[in-house]
Amino acid sequence: MSEKIRVKTPIVEIDGDEMTRIMWQMVKEKLLFPYMDIHSEYYDLGLKNRNETNDQITIDAAHAIMKYKVGVKCATITPNSGRVEEYGLKKQWSSPNGTIRGILDGTVFRAPILVNNIRPSVKTWKRPIHIGRHAYGDVYKNQEIKVPGPGTGELVFTPRGGGEPIRKVIHEFEDPGILQGIHNTVPSIRSFAASCFTYAMDQKIDCWFGTKDTVSKIYDAEFRKIFDEEYEANWKDKFKEAGIEYFYTLIDDAVARVMKSGGGILWTCKNYDGDVMSDMLASANGSLAMMTSVLVSPHGYFEYEAAHGTVQKHYYKHLAGEKTSTNSMALIFAWTGCLKKRAELDDTPEVGEFARKVEDAALETIESGIMTGDLMLVADPDPNNRRVYTEDFIDHIKQNLEKKL
Ligand code: NAP
Ligand code: MG
Repeated sequence: MSEKIRVKTPIVEIDGDEMTRIMWQMVKEKLLFPYMDIHSEYYDLGLKNRNETNDQITIDAAHAIMKYKVGVKCATITPNSGRVEEYGLKKQWSSPNGTIRGILDGTVFRAPILVNNIRPSVKTWKRPIHIGRHAYGDVYKNQEIKVPGPGTGELVFTPRGGGEPIRKVIHEFEDPGILQGIHNTVPSIRSFAASCFTYAMDQKIDCWFGTKDTVSKIYDAEFRKIFDEEYEANWKDKFKEAGIEYFYTLIDDAVARVMKSGGGILWTCKNYDGDVMSDMLASANGSLAMMTSVLVSPHGYFEYEAAHGTVQKHYYKHLAGEKTSTNSMALIFAWTGCLKKRAELDDTPEVGEFARKVEDAALETIESGIMTGDLMLVADPDPNNRRVYTEDFIDHIKQNLEKKL
């Protein structure tokens, strides 16, 4: 290859922590920067720098995505008390993903990377099932009471600025029990619906949504109603033109149908359903390291990342001088996803074409039997299968990529 492929607009590059930070560097230096002329707007969200900047760097990174529309993010540590001590933190900083999502107002979609020698547990799944989780409210922002004994459990809404409160009796307790209050908001649900339809349109796949509105006639019914309104008002014609559908059904029917589907759909889920079902999908597809993730905001911002964390255990081995066999697939696909989106927005098809070559080279590497340890456990048994170290895996991908250029 003679000349580098030029990426017109800067890429918002958000670096992170531990083993993923190590792999991030390798992916960039081996698979991308030798072939592409990328201007990176670099934000170091490594925990040390977040601490030094009082987490301002995270806010700056989110604003950079607002400016350029597209970013790629490495996994980052969400500090707990152990991390505060380990890194000598000034305080227990919030989850960077939470902060960025709060600023961009988006929904996280996940999709597995499929290869022909790792079969999903569900044999009808031929194409990826994408999943979108409403990451606001419901049981994740609840209030709970442990009821000590007989009494009245009530739900009360008090209007601000006067007016009669609305009250409903939840249960007349005769015995000790438990009580829970949950909420959601119309703007959050509407923004979720808009993100889901944006993603389905972007991927050109059908959008499925399920709730329990037969039982929850106000709460879940509101989700259904808002999705219907958003679809009718802004998406119906676009979907028709793209040959895709929006399909609503009860959540239990949705689960049953997903298990018999051929995949190639976006499954949009309420918060709890998405929490549970995304783990089911990840495990049914073999490995968390084969799961991509993208934050899509209804305002047209996209942030690509791997679904997994910083792979802390492998990092400690790495620090101890041991070689690890850590899978960089999801990180690679975060970069290629970002580049493909950039290509689309900049109208530079050569950038998208290169990204696809990187993806093909990576898929072919695994399909030829060269894989990291996590995949050895789930791939079809074959005498050719070979477990390789972190860096060797990326070198093999590079060799395959070179053949395509
Ligand atoms: P994790 O990093 O996803 O790793 C959990 C386990 O999954 C690993 O120990 C490893 O299993 C396996 N694994 C995950 N990714 C792998 C890969 N690429 N290659 C091979 N194996 C892989 O989750 P965690 O250990 O619970 O979290 C570590 C840190 O990540 C935490 O500080 C957390 O806050 C952060 N985190 C960040 C994000 C994000 O930024 N999006 C998401 C989740 C967690 P084996 O050890 O069995 O090999
Ligand atoms: Mg979960």
